[in-house]
Amino acid sequence: MRVGARKMSNPTRPKVPATATRPDDVFTLAAVLVAAGERGLLNADELAVLRAGYAARRDALAAAHRNRGEDASAFVSPLEVIADFRFASRNPKREWLDEEELSRAFADYAGIAFTRIDPLKLDARTLASIISKPFAQKHLVVPIRLEGRRLVAAMVNPFDKHAIHNLEHATGYAIEPVLGLRSEILKTINEIFAFERSLQKAEKQRSADVDLGNLEQLVEVTAGDADNSDKHVVRAVDLLMQYAFDQRASDIHIEPKRERSIVRLRIDGRLHDTHSIPKQVYPGFVSRIKIMSRLDIAEKRRPQDGRIKIAYKDSEVELRVSTVPVAFGEKVVIRIFDPTILLQDITSLGLTPEQRGSYESLLKRPHGIILVTGPTGSGKTTTLYSSLQCLASPEVNIVTIEDPIEMVHEPFNQIAVQESVGISFANALRSVLRQDPDVVMVGEIRDAETAQYAVQAALTGHLVFSTLHTNTAVGAVTRLVDLGIERFLIASTVIGLVAQRLVRLICPACAELSVVSEETLAALGVSGAELDLSRVRRGAGCEKCRKTGYFGRAAAFEVIEVTDPIRIMIRDGADESEIVRTARKNGAEPLMSNAIRKLLSGRTTADEILRVIPAAW
Ligand SMILES: [Zn+2]
Repeated sequence: MRVGARKMSNPTRPKVPATATRPDDVFTLAAVLVAAGERGLLNADELAVLRAGYAARRDALAAAHRNRGEDASAFVSPLEVIADFRFASRNPKREWLDEEELSRAFADYAGIAFTRIDPLKLDARTLASIISKPFAQKHLVVPIRLEGRRLVAAMVNPFDKHAIHNLEHATGYAIEPVLGLRSEILKTINEIFAFERSLQKAEKQRSADVDLGNLEQLVEVTAGDADNSDKHVVRAVDLLMQYAFDQRASDIHIEPKRERSIVRLRIDGRLHDTHSIPKQVYPGFVSRIKIMSRLDIAEKRRPQDGRIKIAYKDSEVELRVSTVPVAFGEKVVIRIFDPTILLQDITSLGLTPEQRGSYESLLKRPHGIILVTGPTGSGKTTTLYSSLQCLASPEVNIVTIEDPIEMVHEPFNQIAVQESVGISFANALRSVLRQDPDVVMVGEIRDAETAQYAVQAALTGHLVFSTLHTNTAVGAVTRLVDLGIERFLIASTVIGLVAQRLVRLICPACAELSVVSEETLAALGVSGAELDLSRVRRGAGCEKCRKTGYFGRAAAFEVIEVTDPIRIMIRDGADESEIVRTARKNGAEPLMSNAIRKLLSGRTTADEILRVIPAAW
C-alpha cells in the first residue's frame, strides 16, 4: 500500500484550546484527518483512498450544491466530503462513517460544540427575524437559540471569522458558533424562513383593522387565491401540513390566543409547541383550512367537522378537521390519518403467532361478535380496519357505522353517525341490517339500543365488529350485562374479546442497554429470576426522538377466544376473575405479559408499560 507523500500525511496537530481565538485555518482536511485518525475512525487504506480522490470528490459536491440552486460561494466542508466516501463506521449503529460521526469527532478535537437541530425547539418567528434568508444561505448558518445577549448559531463552518463578524454586526448579539450538519442547517433555513415569511407577508397585507367578521371580507376570502394575502396564507397552511407530516404528527392543534395563536403537534401521543401565528392572519388561516375541508366559513359560532385529502410524498393523507369556538376565535384540530398505520396486514399488527392463530380463526367464523376494548388512542381502529380489510372481497358486503369515519376506504360501505339529523349508531345499524350486509363494523357500543341491534345482527347470521371502552377484555361481558343484554344472548353471540394498548417504542438511534430494578419488575408482576433481561434497553434521548428516547408506537394485545367452557361461564353468571382464569388455562396471554415481551426484546421500557397498563391487568 502506498502512503501518500503529500504534506497531509504527517500533519502537525494544531493545538486549539477551547477558549483561544480560533485560527482561520483550523478547519482543513489535514486537521480533520488528524482528528479522525486519533479517534481510530479511518485506517491507512482509507486514508490513501481519501487522499487520491479528495479533490475530485470535493469539486463534484460543490457542483451538486450549485445545481440544486444553493449559494455557489458557500463553504464545502471536509467533513461532508469525507462522509461522501462512505467508509465503514466503527460504530455498529451507523451505516457508514457519516457527517455526524465525523463532526462529533472533529468538534471534540477542535474544542467546539456540535449540535443536531431539533426543529420543534426552535422559535421560528424570533429566529427568522434576526437574520435574512440570503445571509443564512450564503454563510450556511442558522440561529438556533437566544441566551440573553448571546445568539447560538449552528454553522457548517463555525471557524469562519468573517461570517461570525458579519453576523455579530447584523444582529447586535454576541455569536456562539457551534458545528452543525449541512443538510440539517439548510433544511432548517428553508423551514423557518418559508413559514414565517408567508405569515409575515400575509400579516402585512391584511391590515389589523380589517374586521374579518364582516361579510365582504368573507366573500373576498371565499373568492380564493386571486387575493395576494390569501396566497401567502395558502402557502403557510401548506407548509404547516407538510411540516406536521414530516414530524409524524397525529394531530395539529391551532389555538387562538389574545395576541398570537399557537400551533401544537401531537407526536407519539405527546403535544409539542411548534409555531405561532399573528392574530391578523389567524382568521384567514382558519378560513383557508375551512375552505379546504368544505366547511361553512361564515359559521363561526357552531362546531363543524370536515375532511381534507392531501398528497404527501407518494400517498394521499386524509385529514379530519374539527372547529370549535373558544374565547379568542375558533380552535381548529386537524387529525391526520396515515393509511399505512390504519390499514395493516393482520401479520404486522403485533400479535404473537398464538394470538394471531386465535384471531384469524375468529375472522373465519360466519357470524358472531368480536369486541375490541381499550381507551381512546389505543389503536382499536387500526385493528378493526385491518380485520375488515382482511375480509374484504367482491363477494362480501362490508358496512361500517362510525362516529366519525376515520378513514374513507373504498371497499367498505361507510356510514357516519350524525346525531343532529337523527343518524345514531342504533338506527343506522337497524337500517343496515335491511341492506343485506355480511360483515358489520359498529364504531362503538355505548348504549343499550346499539348493543341490542349488534346482538340481533349476530343472531341473524352476520359477523359484527365493535369496540367498548372497558379496561379489560373480559370487562366487555360485564359492560354488555350492564347495558341490559341477557347473559344467554351474550354467550351465544360474542365469539372473541380483544384488549389492546399502544406502547411507545425505544428510539433506535439512541437505544442503549439498560437494567430494570426488582421493584419495577415487581410492579410489572414478574421477577427477574424468571426472565432473560440481557436485551433490556432504554432510549438515551437524541435529536431524532426530540430527547424523549421513544420513536413510534406498537400495540400490546390480549386475545380471548370465547370457547365452550367460557360460554357456559358467561351464561351462568360467573364473575370476571373466573372467566379470566379459564381463558388463561386455554392459553390466552395476559395484556401485561404480552407487553413484557416488548421489554425483554428491547423494544420498549418498563416505565412505558406501567404508564399504559396499570399493574395486574
Ligand atoms: Zn433517540
